[in-house]
Amino acid sequence: MTAIIGLTGGIGSGKTTVANFFKELGVPVYIADDAGKEVMESQTILSQIKAVFGEAIFELGVLNRQKLAAIVFADPEKLQQLNAIVHPAVANHFKLWLSNHQHFPFIIYESAILFESKGNEKCNKIITVTAPLSVKLQRVMARDTTTEEQVLLRMKSQWSDDQRIAKSDFVIENTDLEMTKSQVVKILKIL
Ligand code: ATP
Repeated sequence: MTAIIGLTGGIGSGKTTVANFFKELGVPVYIADDAGKEVMESQTILSQIKAVFGEAIFELGVLNRQKLAAIVFADPEKLQQLNAIVHPAVANHFKLWLSNHQHFPFIIYESAILFESKGNEKCNKIITVTAPLSVKLQRVMARDTTTEEQVLLRMKSQWSDDQRIAKSDFVIENTDLEMTKSQVVKILKIL
C-alpha cells in the first residue's frame, strides 16, 4: 500500500519549497491547499458557501476569497463552518488522486493545517518544516500583499511549532536551502 507522508509547517516555513524538492526527486506531491482551491471552484461548494456566508462575499458572482479568508481567520466558529463544507470534498478529491498513484511506495501530502484538520490521522509518517518566526514573517510579507498583523493572526489560528514537532517523525529546519535539500535527501533514504 502507498504510504502517506504528511508534510506540514507554519505559514512561510517553506512547506511548498520542501514539497518541490521531493517532487524533483520523483516523489508525487499532493498539495491540499491547491486541491482545496480547485474544489472551491465547484458549483456545489460555492452554493453551500453562499448559504452560510451570504451574498456579500461574492462580487459579480465570483467568490472574493480574501473577504472569506478575513472572516474565517478572525472567527474560529466561521472557520469551522467553512471547513465543514470544504474538508469532505477535499477528502474525496485526495482519495481519487491516491488511487491514481497506487504504484508509488509513498507520496507526500502537504497541508498547512495537517493536524488542525486531522489530516495527520491518514498519514503513516509526518514531516514538519520549521523556521524562526522573524524569518517566516519576512518571507510571507515579501511574497504576499499582507501586513505583519494579518500574518500573526493567521499563525494564531494554527498550531504552534512545538505542538507540530511533538507529533512529527521528522523535522526539517528550513533556513539555508542547500541544507534543506540535504535533509530531504536524508529523509528519503530513511523512507
Ligand atoms: P505558506 O503556508 O504561507 O504557503 P509555505 O510554508 O508553503 O508557506 P513557501 O511558499 O515554501 O512556504 O515559502 C515562503 C516563501 O519563502 C517563498 O517565497 C519561498 O520562495 C521563500 N523561501 C522558502 N524557503 C526559503 C529558504 N530556505 N531561503 C530563502 N527563501 C525561502
